[in-house]
Amino acid sequence: MSGLAAEAGAINLGQGFPDDEGPDDIRAAAAQAIVNGPNQYPPMMGVPELRQAVATHADRFYGMGLDWQSQVLITSGATEALAASLGALLKPGDEAILIEPFFDTYLPVIEAAGATAQCVALHPPNWTLELDELEAAFSDKTKLILLNTPHNPLGRVFSHSDLVAIADACIRHDVVAVCDEVYEHMVFDGMQHTPLITLPGMSDRTVRIQSAGKIFSLTGWKVGFISGSADLVSLISKAHQNLVFTTPPGLQIGVAYGLGKDDAFFTEQSGDLASKRDILRAGLEAIGFDISPCQGTYFLTADIRPLAGDEQDIDFCKRITTEAKVAAVPISAFYAPNSNHKSHHFIRFCFCKQPAVLEEACNRLSHYLR
Ligand code: PMP
Repeated sequence: MSGLAAEAGAINLGQGFPDDEGPDDIRAAAAQAIVNGPNQYPPMMGVPELRQAVATHADRFYGMGLDWQSQVLITSGATEALAASLGALLKPGDEAILIEPFFDTYLPVIEAAGATAQCVALHPPNWTLELDELEAAFSDKTKLILLNTPHNPLGRVFSHSDLVAIADACIRHDVVAVCDEVYEHMVFDGMQHTPLITLPGMSDRTVRIQSAGKIFSLTGWKVGFISGSADLVSLISKAHQNLVFTTPPGLQIGVAYGLGKDDAFFTEQSGDLASKRDILRAGLEAIGFDISPCQGTYFLTADIRPLAGDEQDIDFCKRITTEAKVAAVPISAFYAPNSNHKSHHFIRFCFCKQPAVLEEACNRLSHYLR
C-alpha cells in the first residue's frame, strides 16, 4: 500500500510511522555518541548503559526488578527480537498460538522455524477474545503463545481479565508467552499497560519485547529490547548472536538517554497521540465509517460496510488510495493465508501524523465518498 500511495501521490495513512523527526535531544545524544565513539562492535548483549536503562525503566513503570546483566538483551528492533525469540524457542513440529488478526512478521518466522501456528480469532465489533476458543487452541505440542498488547492492527488493549486468563492457560499448559509490547507507552484515556510478565507465575515463562523505535517515534532506528528470566534471555541471545550479533552502539546510547526522560515525556506523548486519534476518529465517523474502540497504538480500525457495501477491504483500499488519494491498509492482510476467521470489511488507518495531514485526509475521503 505504501508503494501504491507513493505512486498515486496519496496521503499515506497505511504504514505506521510518525511524520516528524522524533525528539531532538535523543537524536543529539545519539549523534554525539557516534561522533565521540566507540563505534566498533559493542557487547553482544547490548551496551551496559542501555541494559541498565531498560532495567531502570521496567522498575519505574512496572516494579519489575530485572538484573540488567542477565535479564536484558538489546536487539536490532522488535522485529529481530521476535525472530530471535521464536527461532530460539521453536523447533520443527512445535505449535505456537497466534491471536488473529496479528502483526505480519509472526507467521513467517514461526514457519521458518519448522513450527505451525494455531490461530484464535478476536471477534468484531469489539474484537473480543473467547476463552473457550483460546483453551481449544492448546495441545501437547504447544510451545508458546504470542500476545501483542496494545494490539496492532486493532488498537485494542487486552483487559486485565484477558491477561489473567492467558497467564492461567500458560501455567496450566506449561508454555511460554512471547509478548510484543512495542506500543506500551501508547495507551489512552487513563488506561495502563500491564506487562504479562508481571502477573503471578509468569516471570520465568514470559519474554517481553519492546521497541525504542516506537517508544520514541524513531521507527528507522531499529533498536529493541528483550527481557525475561536469565535462562530465557540466555537462550534467545544465542539466536541473536547468529542473526545480527550486535546493534549500532551510538543508537543504543541515544536510547539509553531517552529511557531516562521524566514521566511527563511519556504522558505528553500519549496525550498528543490520543488527540490525533480523536481528530481522525471524528473525521472518519462524520464520513460514515464505523470505528472500533481504540485504546492504544497508532491505529484506528474502520468497518467499511456503511460506505462500501459488499466491496472487499483490499479493493476498497486500492480505490481510496488511487482515487481519493488517501491510503489505508486492509485488515485481511493480518490473517493467516488459509484462515477461516478472515474478515474482509475492515481497514486500518494510522493517526501518528500532523493534525493538518489527518484533517486533509478526512477532507479528501469525505469529498470522494460522499
Ligand atoms: N511489533 C509490532 C506489533 C509492530 O507494529 C512493529 C512495527 N510496526 C514491530 C513489532 C516491529 O518493531 P521494530 O520497528 O522495532 O522492529
